[in-house]
Amino acid sequence: MDTLEEMVEEDRAAGKRSFLVVGSAGTTNTGAVEDLDALAEICNREDMWLHADGACGGFFTLTEKGRKQLAGIERCDSVTLDTHKGLFLPYGTGALLVRDGQSLTRTHAIDADYIPDWDPDSEFVDFSHLSPELSRDFRGLRVWLPLKMHSIEPFRTNLGEKLELARIATAEIKNIDHVRVVAEPQLSTLALRLNPPGVEGEELDKLNQELLEAINRRGRVHLSGTTLNDRFTIRISVLSFRTHEEHIIHCVEDLKEGINEITAEE
Ligand SMILES: *Cc1c(COP(=O)(O)O)cnc(C)c1O
Repeated sequence: MDTLEEMVEEDRAAGKRSFLVVGSAGTTNTGAVEDLDALAEICNREDMWLHADGACGGFFTLTEKGRKQLAGIERCDSVTLDTHKGLFLPYGTGALLVRDGQSLTRTHAIDADYIPDWDPDSEFVDFSHLSPELSRDFRGLRVWLPLKMHSIEPFRTNLGEKLELARIATAEIKNIDHVRVVAEPQLSTLALRLNPPGVEGEELDKLNQELLEAINRRGRVHLSGTTLNDRFTIRISVLSFRTHEEHIIHCVEDLKEGINEITAEE
């Protein structure tokens, strides 16, 4: 927050005006959540637009723990929500929520002789005036139908389960020798590294890459890798409705087996 305030100040000193802040409501890399309440304070004061990237984390507001973690998201001017992540729906069903819908029509409404007249005050929502697309797919149906059929409850329960699974995985992994959880799960993503004594730098990166390959080769779970503070890091992201406790047990088992495998080779 201090850095943000300094940057706004720097802009002002240079005769510019900062107008937009994007806060993370669950990063892809580690699921990190920023203090959205504090961001909202600054944005209010400085008259800046606050956008929250809740693409992978936003729907956790459906759960009690997520709501605490994401406090302040309700104060944002706009929020990205990917139903194809947080609601487990088919790919290509991302969403953008905007507090002031007029800001979207101001940007995207189009007028041409061949387009039927449109009354901005009518109750009918014409999405082609709200988004860059004119000829567009009816993506809303893919969200509406599952919610109509199942109600929101199973989604809420599922998201709560994913948070709990990430917590269980973290607790189990912390018991494994020389494995460090480098990013605790604020939501359902965590990052870890095998960090045996005396192994550093590129050698450590290589070891963790080998470990990731060894785990995935077993074919029961699929973990992915990323770079954190310039070091290769393994990440576990629990965000499928098919993932349950047994899979977390497999994951921890395969992590241990993977470590045995690559350390036996050496
Ligand atoms: C996935 C993701 C995006 C990109 O969204 P797509 O729907 O894949 O285009 C943006 N931000 C975060 C935090 C994400 O996890």
